[in-house]
Amino acid sequence: MAYVLARRELRTSKILEELGLSLETKRLRDIVGHFTFYLNMGRFKVLRLRYGYIEAIVKGLHGEWRTKVNLLNQSFDCTCPHHKYRRALCKHILLLLELYLFLRNEPKDVELVRKFLQEHIEVIF
Ligand SMILES: [Zn+2]
Repeated sequence: MAYVLARRELRTSKILEELGLSLETKRLRDIVGHFTFYLNMGRFKVLRLRYGYIEAIVKGLHGEWRTKVNLLNQSFDCTCPHHKYRRALCKHILLLLELYLFLRNEPKDVELVRKFLQEHIEVIF
């Protein structure tokens, strides 16, 4: 007999590690780890989802942000201050990528996310 655990591997953290971005930084590890919490607390409201595109309202700790990622033309946008003023690839974008892979789970989707992160790895935070 064994204890039953509901545990899933976080896809974005695996991709980031493969791309050489260390998850040793506590901040990055925390953000990716927040995904399950956000999911279970109903903090994602998906507005649009199709191949290569996801748009959602993400209920953060300090407000609700409208976040979208287009994996086909490599663009992304979030209404949070972190993205608005610094053009950074913020926490909400990372959470949205994880959500995209959670909802769509085909190898071609994983490949799109990998390409996107590779392209934007310099502006994460
Ligand atoms: Zn954001």
